[in-house]
Amino acid sequence: MARVGMSAPVSVVAGGKTAKALRDGLGIATVGDLLRHYPRRYVDPGELTDLASLQVGEHVTVFAEVVSASTRRMQQRKGTVSEVVVSDGRGRISLVFFNQPWRSESQLRTGRRGLFAGTVSAYGGTRQLAHPRFVMLPDAGEDDAEGEAAFSDLIIPVYPATAGLPSWRIQQSVRLALDAVDDADDPLPPSVRIGHGLLGLPDALRAVHRPIDRESIELGQRRLRFEEAFGLQAVLAQRRHELRGQAATPRARRTAGLLEAFDERLHLQLTEAQARVGDEIAADLEGSHPMHRLLQGDVGSGKTLVALRAMLQVVDAGGQAALLAPTEVLAQQHLRTLQRFLGPLAERGLLGGDIEGTRLAFLSGSQSAKTRREELAAIASGEAGIVVGTHALLEETVEFADLGLVVVDEQHRFGVEQRAALAERAREGLRPHVLVMTATPIPRTVAMTVFGDLDVSVIDGYPPGRGTIATHVVAPREHPAHLTRAWQRVREEVAEGRKVFVVCPRIGDDGADVGDEDIGSVEPETHPVSSVLDVTAELSERLLPDLRVGMVHGRMSADDKDEAMRRFGAPSDDPDALDVLVATTVIEVGVDIPAASTMVILDADRFGISQLHQLRGRIARGGEDGLCLLVTASDPDTPARERLAAVAATTDGFALARVDLQSRREGDILGTLQSGRRSSLRLLEVIRDEDVVREARDAATEIVEDDPELKRWPALRAHIAEIANDDRSDFLEKG
Ligand code: ADP
Ligand code: MG
Repeated sequence: MARVGMSAPVSVVAGGKTAKALRDGLGIATVGDLLRHYPRRYVDPGELTDLASLQVGEHVTVFAEVVSASTRRMQQRKGTVSEVVVSDGRGRISLVFFNQPWRSESQLRTGRRGLFAGTVSAYGGTRQLAHPRFVMLPDAGEDDAEGEAAFSDLIIPVYPATAGLPSWRIQQSVRLALDAVDDADDPLPPSVRIGHGLLGLPDALRAVHRPIDRESIELGQRRLRFEEAFGLQAVLAQRRHELRGQAATPRARRTAGLLEAFDERLHLQLTEAQARVGDEIAADLEGSHPMHRLLQGDVGSGKTLVALRAMLQVVDAGGQAALLAPTEVLAQQHLRTLQRFLGPLAERGLLGGDIEGTRLAFLSGSQSAKTRREELAAIASGEAGIVVGTHALLEETVEFADLGLVVVDEQHRFGVEQRAALAERAREGLRPHVLVMTATPIPRTVAMTVFGDLDVSVIDGYPPGRGTIATHVVAPREHPAHLTRAWQRVREEVAEGRKVFVVCPRIGDDGADVGDEDIGSVEPETHPVSSVLDVTAELSERLLPDLRVGMVHGRMSADDKDEAMRRFGAPSDDPDALDVLVATTVIEVGVDIPAASTMVILDADRFGISQLHQLRGRIARGGEDGLCLLVTASDPDTPARERLAAVAATTDGFALARVDLQSRREGDILGTLQSGRRSSLRLLEVIRDEDVVREARDAATEIVEDDPELKRWPALRAHIAEIANDDRSDFLEKG
């Protein structure tokens, strides 16, 4: 065969049908794609696959031995059914073929071994593969080209496959590709490769696709894993370099300014963490390059105050600051919080306002045209020092006099294009400083990978006087009385003047709830899932008719939502106040109602761990202890129930983040932090491979610092151009 390049179409090494199946089923279009389709695991012909681990619904390739084969006539219908039982020496699984009696008689004789590929199903309590594809280990002297090919290696690679394209077909194409390809240009510079004791690319590809032993697999994977980390880190290093080349207006701290006046007025003592992080940010703001900082702090750690002080520094220096919230409810609440914190300092130009002060502007999608015009004018003239809003802030028509700082709250809900759009608002090539706040604790390596071009500040610790929250799992299917008791507790709390959230996974009425509420899980429905509309009716009519029950969800108008939140926040002796608020996850982030002591989360198994933690962070914010009840109809000993138990066991957000990460697949994690798309990482697992990520980061930084455009490294340049263009690694843009 002629020598071909990595970019040659896959049809040069695969027949038309196979090439089509590779393209359609696995997204493999080029020889390079094929060689980057690494085996998922390996079969050692001395060792049969452990059949106990197979999950129903999974597409599997197993190596097993035939223990029995029989064919019988079907009773209800015409034809035969052949059942072949295969075993790994312990467990068994049935292969079922309809109307193919010759199969069991000839190829699938007792004692023969082979690879069987299919989707695991369950039938009458036993697991089976219906109509599996298979290839048998040839008997001595037998003429079976496919079998010979599949078993010619000492260790057989098992590829992620599809129903139409079994692993051994992929193996054949890969083998042809390995022989044919001649320009596997190595993206790793030789100094990096040698310095880290890594195989070259062609050797590494051979090692993972046609391994001679387990060690060679490990060596090959080590090199490829490093390469993945290195590629990402090189992109991020370039981005950091680029950011350092950008200019921003320095916003120096000022004596006798607004910030000092604010600090004097503040009746709180900053926590040590708030003060430290505040200093880091203050120093960044004084620089002539744009700050690009991620502020991490658990729910309730006091991020808002830190952000506000940064904003005041910028206003003191003559600039404006924008605070972006992911939802209308949250934007409204930020506005109220800032008004409360700033008092007369936010009322310049109004009667009783401080002349040293500034003005707050607010922009949202649901404002009247007149209000909006006034706010826009105040923003454009610079009269408004601080602007709070949702993404309506990012519309073209919003013009700032001198935007100096953008604070983005709860980053994981905010798209990058939107943030980029705001950065573009800067004048004359000067970019605003950017502070991104998140309450989702992100492990260091994930932060390094996903937010690798941001500096990270962490607020560890909480303001004093926060109550502790006791969390319990309530399983009415096992203990019906516990739910009755839960509503009783709700009544007791309300009698003490406290407030209660009741959270539901759905809004109700129609099946598909969309909007700014995430529905936690994708498990199949086994019972009707609680909805805000139904539960509100049920509580106010039947279970808690003596209490004032209201609701808030994403399909309500901004005004109605705001009204509900205001009534829920009002003191209990206010005739207009609500005692109980039934809500979706609109209240997940940032909502601050000090009197809320209790939260009942219905169908809690529908939510993820970090979502539950976020939700729970809404209570016990007024100094008193809180109670969180996780109501579930899930069965004991299921993963769902274990997640709930983990949430009940600790309120440490970082510990929970770790449990969360362990219980999910890597791709899902990156997927959540990103825009939900698939990542380009194949072998690298950023949690497990922390050392690799760190080493690759150092190596990539050194290469990029030395040669930012990578002029000397065309193969690396081409490689990362592909990463950056690759739709699937879109998350890099999220930095
Ligand atoms: P989050 O980090 O979740 O956004 P917030 O900024 O909403 O946390 O702060 C949680 C609560 O703690 C708020 O009611 C806030 O006013 C209060 N708070 C913040 N900093 C302090 C402090 N240093 N001392 C006392 N209370 C504080
Ligand atoms: Mg907050």
